[in-house]
Amino acid sequence: MKAMLLSQVWDLHTQPSPLELVELPIPKPDENEVLLRVSACGVCHTELDEIEGRTPPPRYPVIPGHQVIGRVEKAGSSANRFKPDERVGVAWIHSACGKCQYCLSGQENLCAQFLATGRDVNGGYANYMTVPESFAYPIPEIYSDPEAAPLLCAGAIGYRSLRLSGLQDGQNLGLTGFGASAHIVLKLAQYQYPRARVYVFSRSEPEQAFARELGAEWAGDIEDTTPALLESVIDTTPVWRPVVEALRNLAPGGRLVINAIRKEELDKASLTRLDYPTHLWMEKEIKSIANITRKDVEEFLQIAAQIPIHPEFQEYALAEANLALMEMKNRKIRGAKVLRLE
Ligand SMILES: [Zn+2]
Ligand SMILES: [Zn+2]
Repeated sequence: MKAMLLSQVWDLHTQPSPLELVELPIPKPDENEVLLRVSACGVCHTELDEIEGRTPPPRYPVIPGHQVIGRVEKAGSSANRFKPDERVGVAWIHSACGKCQYCLSGQENLCAQFLATGRDVNGGYANYMTVPESFAYPIPEIYSDPEAAPLLCAGAIGYRSLRLSGLQDGQNLGLTGFGASAHIVLKLAQYQYPRARVYVFSRSEPEQAFARELGAEWAGDIEDTTPALLESVIDTTPVWRPVVEALRNLAPGGRLVINAIRKEELDKASLTRLDYPTHLWMEKEIKSIANITRKDVEEFLQIAAQIPIHPEFQEYALAEANLALMEMKNRKIRGAKVLRLE
């Protein structure tokens, strides 16, 4: 099979082609696993965090990719949940221990044994991959393969972020950054909270225009002051300055959630501009979002199909994965990026 392989940490300023197209044997499913013939795999900002070493894979080489759509090619000896050829998806959560206090209380995303698809084990930038059958999801029929892929991380983590942001109907929601996840959150918020207003902060004018096109009440630059205070903010940027600026616009008692696995060190000095009375006092909160549970993915796929949410996406061939990643790095983004496999 063909796969795009990551073999070390790279500096993308000097190495714009970090993944190598290689030929590998088709993997064999363990007894509780299914082997999937991959048809589409979403490209996520987390892949940049892996490649640039902010959340490096524990072992090399590894096949990245954690928004995977495929069909069941083969099942392990004790795997019987899916029919041959059934279409399923795989998300960031590849497995968790199932026994710790977090796993037993619906917080498997916080499990110390959490294994991530495409970082700790091979993911979907390949023709085939394996996954424990209890960590695969049936995909609602209304979606094409490439359309469904970004629902599995950008969508599902956006769903978790929106829930944990504490937003209530009629309130104001801020989104800092407007990539794959934020544009799905906007569509989701419009449905779940029909009287809420969405304010979008982005450095990029095309992203601001895209946000207005999708119905944002307001879209402006990161430093701009919103015309109204925001009860909730979801930050999807890789840096710090947008967080500091957004806290200024947060209402008393408001909450800002950071939907990012890692932040870049680049502009960390922005944090020294934090002024307690301006940015934090009045019981403002900051909370991070970590990983995802199976329940998040299952619930979101249902809701997305009901609404229905149709993510905007651009397709790339498997061999163009480096191009898609560099465009993401350089903020050439409109919706989600998806690799299409033969
Ligand atoms: Zn992701
Ligand atoms: Zn656990």
